[in-house]
Amino acid sequence: NRKHQPSAEDLITGILKGDKVALSRAITVVESTNPAHTSKVNDIIHACLPHANNSIRIGITGVPGVGKSTFIEAFGTYLTSIGKKVAVLTVDPSSTISHGSILGDKTRMEELVKDENAFIRPAASGETLGGVARKTRETIILCEAAGFDTIIIETVGVGQSETAVHSMVDFFLLLKISGAGDELQGIKRGIMEMADSIVINKADGDNVAKAKLAKTEFNRALHLFPAKSSGWIPQVTTCSAYEKTGIDTIWKIISDYFELVKANHYFDQKRQDQNQFWMLETINEQLKSNFYNNPEIVKLLEENKLAVASNKKSPFLAALELLSSYFK
Ligand code: GDP
Repeated sequence: NRKHQPSAEDLITGILKGDKVALSRAITVVESTNPAHTSKVNDIIHACLPHANNSIRIGITGVPGVGKSTFIEAFGTYLTSIGKKVAVLTVDPSSTISHGSILGDKTRMEELVKDENAFIRPAASGETLGGVARKTRETIILCEAAGFDTIIIETVGVGQSETAVHSMVDFFLLLKISGAGDELQGIKRGIMEMADSIVINKADGDNVAKAKLAKTEFNRALHLFPAKSSGWIPQVTTCSAYEKTGIDTIWKIISDYFELVKANHYFDQKRQDQNQFWMLETINEQLKSNFYNNPEIVKLLEENKLAVASNKKSPFLAALELLSSYFK
């Protein structure tokens, strides 16, 4: 008693009309690992592409508990209140490992899920971060074609997922909370370099003074980094996602950023670079997965694992032999 499967044409028509049900169903097709869906996916993406790209894409990261869900709820509802159409996607590395989710249940964004001008889609799961990231890239295109002009991509600060998200967004926001004084302790240098803005959340109640201090400290630290090729100077600010204060300032910062990078053409350049990067990434992913799933290779790999473990064959020779038997 399977559900009727809509055709690619039906889904495309629905997406272009802004129908969220069609959008959801199309994303499910994109996320499917069934190879029989590949041509359907390609048809949908191809039809959506000319209608995509008219958006701003914002990445949001921060450790669990920093307030990402609460912030996205406050920020997202602010955006819809000023007439934006907001899509929230997540890249969750934990879903690739445990099929669970660190980012948790999006129904926590109670207001935003009910908002007609918002679309929330929980993380795609998959075998690899690369696979998950590719699906998210394709999902962005579908959301844009459906008329969403502000795409928020949430990720958790683990492993490579921040880098993956950074490479698919225009603006990258790092959410922090003020700590016990030494704000910079434990913060990865790479993540500071990626951030276009650092927002210190939970600046409410007794925390306000501490958050202000943290702001000063982050500002000082950011000055030590080389200038960004966007010409943008990263901004630090505070907010309370809970009390919904400081949200308009964050939107002002983001708007200023887009004004700058659209005027100096960094915006277009970065998107072009990202498209090329994702082409190469997809090739890498495909090559790897085809190689490791090839039945002959699976067999040879087992034999060679034993051979290299017992020093009967060098790892390099074994690798070369495997590759040449694949690319023969
Ligand atoms: P996430 O794991 O980063 O998505 O964080 P959540 O949004 O789930 O928030 C974690 C906890 O911090 C929850 O108990 C929130 O109610 C609380 N929280 C989030 N934002 C704020 C804030 O601005 N102020 C205060 N006081 N608490 C907050």
